[in-house]
Amino acid sequence: GFADVKISVKASNVPLMVEAYRMLADDPFFADEEGRSVPLHLGVTEAGPPPAGLVKATAGLATLLLEGIGDTIRYSLTADPVEEARAGRQLLEALGLRERKGLDLIACPSCGRAEVDVIEVAANAQAALESLAIPIQVAVMGCVVNGPGEAREADLGIAAGRRRGHLFVKGKVVKVVPEDEMVDELVTWAKLIADEGIEEALRHGDATAEDEAARDRAALLDDKGADANHAEERVDVIRRL
Ligand code: SF4
Repeated sequence: GFADVKISVKASNVPLMVEAYRMLADDPFFADEEGRSVPLHLGVTEAGPPPAGLVKATAGLATLLLEGIGDTIRYSLTADPVEEARAGRQLLEALGLRERKGLDLIACPSCGRAEVDVIEVAANAQAALESLAIPIQVAVMGCVVNGPGEAREADLGIAAGRRRGHLFVKGKVVKVVPEDEMVDELVTWAKLIADEGIEEALRHGDATAEDEAARDRAALLDDKGADANHAEERVDVIRRL
């Protein structure tokens, strides 16, 4: 085994850094008598400011971690060190290498179907839920047409439609609330799930919620049609990039 030793071969060039760590991990010279690699400390050095630095560092770190290479990591961002530590924790949680302690907020990218400002609702939800320290995945989705289905793996979520919020638990719509109460309801239901569990929370659901959601979904499809995103025009713009 190894004691009091760890090797780091950081580089700011991602392919170079990945290759260097792979070579070290594969080299028997750096392995113990049982074939275990010497502990490796991973990093993409001088990655720069977010978001580009974050993408660069994550590309290198995630590639190696998913190959089983690496024992400790460091984000070297041109940012507050607290941001670096947060990024590291979030990466390990996203890869399933560290148990989630708090909120995992997911949000749809928004599109022509969005019925609310997803960025604003997601930011408000993050601010309201983060301090609760509940290990829960919450989804903020722009529309009820696809939201509950797309985010059915989330413990809890909200999808917007016709000035109302459709609250769902594991993809099942449990309550329809006014748009300006969406974030407060997310907090209430997150606490309910934390206290009583998913199954019990589902039992608190409103019996008419799924039907109301179906009606709003149908009305939205009617309003915006099947091609709410004007796909052909968008593809044309993308081709010219
Ligand atoms: S279809 Fe709805 S849920 Fe999906 S990205 Fe668009 S607004 Fe968001």
